[in-house]
Amino acid sequence: MTERKILLAENEMPDRWYNILPDLPEPLPPPLHPATREPLSPDDLKPLFPMELIKQEMSDERFIKIPEEVLEIYRQWRPTPLIRAEKLEEYLKTPARIYYKYEGVSPPGSHKPNTAVAQAYYNMKEGVERLTTETGAGQWGSALCFATSLFGMKCTVYMVRVSYNQKPYRRIMMETWGGEVIPSPSNRTESGKRMLEKDPDSPGSLGIAISEAVEDAVKNEDTKYSLGSVLNHVLLHQTIIGLEAKKQLEKVDEKPDLIIGCVGGGSNFSGLAYPFVKQAEKDGTRIVAVEPSACPTLTAGEYTYDYGDTVGLTPLIKMYTLGHDFIPPPIHAGGLRYHGDAPTLSLLVAKKKIEAVAVNQIPTFEAGLIFARTEGIIPAPESNHAVRVVIDEALKAKEAGEEKVILFGLSGHGYFDLSAYDAFISGELKNANG
Ligand SMILES: *Cc1c(COP(=O)(O)O)cnc(C)c1O
Repeated sequence: MTERKILLAENEMPDRWYNILPDLPEPLPPPLHPATREPLSPDDLKPLFPMELIKQEMSDERFIKIPEEVLEIYRQWRPTPLIRAEKLEEYLKTPARIYYKYEGVSPPGSHKPNTAVAQAYYNMKEGVERLTTETGAGQWGSALCFATSLFGMKCTVYMVRVSYNQKPYRRIMMETWGGEVIPSPSNRTESGKRMLEKDPDSPGSLGIAISEAVEDAVKNEDTKYSLGSVLNHVLLHQTIIGLEAKKQLEKVDEKPDLIIGCVGGGSNFSGLAYPFVKQAEKDGTRIVAVEPSACPTLTAGEYTYDYGDTVGLTPLIKMYTLGHDFIPPPIHAGGLRYHGDAPTLSLLVAKKKIEAVAVNQIPTFEAGLIFARTEGIIPAPESNHAVRVVIDEALKAKEAGEEKVILFGLSGHGYFDLSAYDAFISGELKNANG
């Protein structure tokens, strides 16, 4: 019998992030300048990011020290608990042992402040007064507004219009932390205006909102841009999740056979999985990324150079992509509606170090309800994608009579997504792909 809730003491919290770049199976194809198509130089990124983050983006150091000021803020909710899902195991009658790393305990309710706090900190140190960003479901925007408020900075958030309309509480949260929230596409930028001319009723997409946020940052001297996923430095900051989980599993003498997480741009998934990747083959660990079938980037996209945004202002990055003009249907897991994926994750999937599966919306909510009724926590719709595959794998283990150890990322809670649960419970929810 192991402990149900595996905690780390404050002084056991990792004080370094793990950078996977030096451990990739082959060098990462470089990002290219959008105009010249030449490999990007650090200077090209200066209008967008502070120098320290640009360094991290290209660093070949395996471990990077977390600044004391950032650790201090992390300690408000970190180390996060690793919980054995005993009630879910009982319900499924599976011999699998299921552990979840719960990131919903942060003030904004997801893993996103792990990088938001670090990014706001480095920008503040270099004298930046305002950050711009995009947000889908609102989790990233709220994480960044939380972080900027801690350092006395301003924050402008371009929020995908469909989410702006579906999720007023996330907007209110951002405004409570002092942020300015603009539904995207908007009339504030040339990129937004161009989209509105084409389609005045555009539901928006992360790609369009990124174009707007980038344009706003580039046009204003005291302002820089912040991205909540995809980039190397973002994934780097999220590795605190997996570094903690590794220590926690060691405490109860367990090694994961299977690591599962949901993927939008890849940050929570990579944060959990990357510290295990190097050892995975040797340990026989399977690592599985789960995405929505409405936006099947890793499973149906092409591995090629593409823009990170819709208009084509960002560097070209080699990644799995559905095309930069792809606008996914408005599913409730707003945080998973992105046309691309992190370049390191894309490379690891292309090299078959990491598996990918796509799941439909209704089965994810079925899984979320089972989880809520056994474990008590109502997961974010994004996290439900991981829960779905965890349940499927636990049932397979039952059929095979295998004592598998499953580790998964519960990236956030769903307390601001209750209208999505309402739609599911009342039978109004639809699968995006029929
Ligand atoms: C944003 C978000 C995601 C998706 O983003 P990633 O960068 O892929 O992690 C997943 N879960 C939650 C709760 C989120 O807020």
